[in-house]
Amino acid sequence: MPNRELVVLGTASQAPTRIRNHNGYLLRWDAEGLLFDPGEGTQRQMLFAGVTASQITRICITHFHGDHCLGLPGVLARISLDRVAHPVEIYYPAANEPVFQHLRHAALYRDAADLRARPVREAGTLASTPAFRIEARPLAHSVPTFGYRLAEPDGRRMLPDKLLALGIAGPDVGRLKQRGELVAGGRRVTVEQVSQPRPGQRFAFIMDTGLCDAAFELADRADMLVCESTFAGADAALAREWGHLTAAQAGRIAAESQARLLVLTHFSQRYDREGSQRMAGEAASVFGGDVVLAHDLARIPVPLRQSSPAQPATQPGT
Ligand SMILES: [Zn+2]
Repeated sequence: MPNRELVVLGTASQAPTRIRNHNGYLLRWDAEGLLFDPGEGTQRQMLFAGVTASQITRICITHFHGDHCLGLPGVLARISLDRVAHPVEIYYPAANEPVFQHLRHAALYRDAADLRARPVREAGTLASTPAFRIEARPLAHSVPTFGYRLAEPDGRRMLPDKLLALGIAGPDVGRLKQRGELVAGGRRVTVEQVSQPRPGQRFAFIMDTGLCDAAFELADRADMLVCESTFAGADAALAREWGHLTAAQAGRIAAESQARLLVLTHFSQRYDREGSQRMAGEAASVFGGDVVLAHDLARIPVPLRQSSPAQPATQPGT
């Protein structure tokens, strides 16, 4: 099982259908689990997908339309019921604090969860860990909405053949990485001589928005871009009216931002399976990278780093 993957819990916008639950996505990233936009029914979809409440370390809410947040009360109650011991940080638009408070206290139960509210006021970095930095940018929708982005710090990948050639092995490799240089066989060796740059992996999450600069900034060189694709091109007027993207616009964001894998989701109920298949084609007509049409309970691995295809995508700092 890859250590970095998107578990799709639901893919419907506005109203669920027989084949689509409301939105919901768990991004598994090493030891963390980031739950994005838990719509109604998320708790049960987690069960079907094999996701437990204890896997959730952070919750990111783009905005407070029902299809993006009505599952929050159930998920929070479940975190409490399961006695999840670690803290869970929750990011959401600060402008709608009263809505968050309603959802946070929507039912009566013995509250045992360590929940830490982190209202988002403006574009910027929300958290930094050795594995990633989380950033938010305001999007262009009918209510306050933020898109999110995870960026792993850039690092360097050690090259075993070069280390071998210079006789550097065992604990010396760690010393070299730590200090940046080492004397081996009477010669000074720098870390640059025996490694190559390894760009950090990037993930972007763009929901309900019209085309805007922030969408392109969030998607910049994303290895995986999860993007709303509410409407097909034939319904572009509706997309404009309601502050949404068409599939082709999602493709354009991916193309111009040099994203690698585009995951389309958040489909209007007006499209059946075939209708959403056509949307994948519309996105692919403008984006040369991989396009995946999300479906409920799919597990989509974050693509391996481009510069080091032989390396598992699970070793930050190596
Ligand atoms: Zn919305």
